[in-house]
Amino acid sequence: MTVESCLDELPITDLKGVGEKIAEKLKRLGIASVADVLFHLPFRYEDRSEVVSIGALMSGHSCLFEGQVELAEVVFRGRRSMLVRISDGTGFITLRFFHFSNSQKKAMQRGQWIRCFGDIKAYNKGGGAEVVHPEYRLISEQQRGQIEEGLLAVYPVTEGLNQASFRKLIKQAFVMLQQGAFVRDCLPQQALEEGRYLPLLDSLKELHYPQTIPADDVSHIPAFQRLIFEELLANHLSLSRLKKGVKQRAAPRFKGIGEIHAQFLNTLKFNLTAAQQRVVAEITSDLQKGSPMQRLLQGDVGSGKTVVAACAGLAAIEAGYQVALMAPTELLAEQHYKNFEQWLSGLGVHVTCLLGRHKGKAYTAITDDIRQAKANIVIGTQSLFQEKVEFARLGLVIIDEQHRFGVQQRLALREKGMGNMSPHQLVMTATPIPRTLAMLGYADLDLSIIDELPPGRTPVTTAVLPVSKREKIIERIRQGVADGRQVYWVCTLIEESEALQCQAAEVAAELLIDGLPELKIGLVHGRMKAEEKQAVMDQFKQQSLDILVATTVIEVGVDVPNASLMIIENAERLGLAQLHQLRGRVGRGQRDSHCVLMYKPPLSNNASERLSIMRETTDGFKIAEKDMQLRGAGELLGKRQAGFMHFKVADIVRDAELLDSVAICAEDVLQEHEELVEPLIHRWVANSVEYAQV
Ligand code: ADP
Ligand code: MG
Repeated sequence: MTVESCLDELPITDLKGVGEKIAEKLKRLGIASVADVLFHLPFRYEDRSEVVSIGALMSGHSCLFEGQVELAEVVFRGRRSMLVRISDGTGFITLRFFHFSNSQKKAMQRGQWIRCFGDIKAYNKGGGAEVVHPEYRLISEQQRGQIEEGLLAVYPVTEGLNQASFRKLIKQAFVMLQQGAFVRDCLPQQALEEGRYLPLLDSLKELHYPQTIPADDVSHIPAFQRLIFEELLANHLSLSRLKKGVKQRAAPRFKGIGEIHAQFLNTLKFNLTAAQQRVVAEITSDLQKGSPMQRLLQGDVGSGKTVVAACAGLAAIEAGYQVALMAPTELLAEQHYKNFEQWLSGLGVHVTCLLGRHKGKAYTAITDDIRQAKANIVIGTQSLFQEKVEFARLGLVIIDEQHRFGVQQRLALREKGMGNMSPHQLVMTATPIPRTLAMLGYADLDLSIIDELPPGRTPVTTAVLPVSKREKIIERIRQGVADGRQVYWVCTLIEESEALQCQAAEVAAELLIDGLPELKIGLVHGRMKAEEKQAVMDQFKQQSLDILVATTVIEVGVDVPNASLMIIENAERLGLAQLHQLRGRVGRGQRDSHCVLMYKPPLSNNASERLSIMRETTDGFKIAEKDMQLRGAGELLGKRQAGFMHFKVADIVRDAELLDSVAICAEDVLQEHEELVEPLIHRWVANSVEYAQV
């Protein structure tokens, strides 16, 4: 270390005691530089500044206390354990050890003084307090009350790296700071001067070596808030940079509405809603700019995103480019294929579909078409972007039901363009993302929203019923079908294996066949071959089936407007987003629709809250907000997204209220303090996210 080193630039191995092995362990904690050590914050503190008399110990607190051994015994109640009763004259407490050595046992002589630190647990039957596996030290009577430690920070550590060694690293880093090394304060000077945020060094000191124990929730203290703010800012900037980087790339220019597009709108059986028209205009405007569109199209289930995708696709095709449409499941890819074929093949557009079942000759024929630009629109799943599939003139990539794809995959698609041209990207999602979350999770995308359902839809009425009402529900199905309705019966068993889920669906189908012998009942589940699934779906769509028993394979995108009654089994086990998706399969036609959420009592509070929300509203945005509260952001964005949003100190749900000011500050940094961008990203984002380099 030279005197004026910036700790952000010193590798962790510059610290004493950190060899390759420890460095490897630290890396797992996201620590690579000396500064990273300082940004690895404690998650709680222990007060060792005062010896508490045993009579004053309070259960639920971690305390330092001293006493004299009265009795040490090994007992076998369920599990072998050593109980040591100690007393200091004000009361007694029992120390319980499940793991102990002979020498430990021997040392617990009657009259021996001992200093302990631990969580005071419940009261045992004898009436005294108890501590399980306290930290302890034998002391002499003279040593009583002589404390060396004060407030101690407790850090998240990993195996092979304990609290004590980590504290030593922190200490070394602070010593370096005292000797003239520095950590750069990356917030705009003005914000600091105005006192809006604590200076970085003060914050770090306070967090690692507090004077008093912070309040229950450490995240609320100003020192912590400042770091949270900085991390969110860094993430915001990293995404803006990403977005800007993409915008600087070249993309083909498509002219707006052409002839085929106009014909297409004419042949449609309906008019686009105002919202659809607005969104189509936003998209076509992007497509003319010569830089890659990166647009997120958000619209609740049933809002008609597919037609919008077709319009975007036509813009590319009319300019002589190819379109790839990627769906999350084969079932959905197939459905899109049918729609697009029906809509577009009459207009001279060659629509093709590439699925897992296309092997050998069929596969070669399709991929040849793609390579030779004979196929205008190619529909498939992720497999479309395997290395082997080469597009001749890929101009637009449409990703349906985005929440299943991660940022990384989205970015990988840029490479599928021609030469230095990146394809445009349209990403569609029915999972409404709360605005605050979208600001981070999708900050690299522009946003379009379809906020209007096609006319003539009646909202779905939802009932919540216990399984004991099954007979009644079956009766309701009977009447419904007599009334000309079609019915979905959805089986869910989320914790079990897929095999069990399919089995459950088979059993459910048999029960229904028994109960409703006069009705035609079909079954789809994940273990059936794609063609089998498709055949059953077709029958249902053509109304030759009354009831479709299905696993959650129908969750995404399936569109059968005549189905107007849905029963969901074990609804209490599903998350809100999934329930909303499922329910979105009904309410697509002219008829009033109904959804019955069946549950097995007893309901947990959380489950009962979820089901009530479903009964109260069909508004996807309200449901998403609630979902975020109940489950947390990681779940909502899906695992991959959550992986990308890996924060050291921030929690996007807890800290959501900071995001507005983060956005404002980010603007300011970009305008006035460009020089802070790099250090901020380097400090907070670079290690965890390799994509930051555009
Ligand atoms: P989602 O947004 O959930 O993907 P879809 O694109 O599957 O919704 O559309 C749902 C249904 O609404 C489809 O049957 C579609 O043909 C129909 N639809 C779409 N737009 C309109 C419209 N403007 N008027 C009437 N029906 C429409
Ligand atoms: Mg859809």
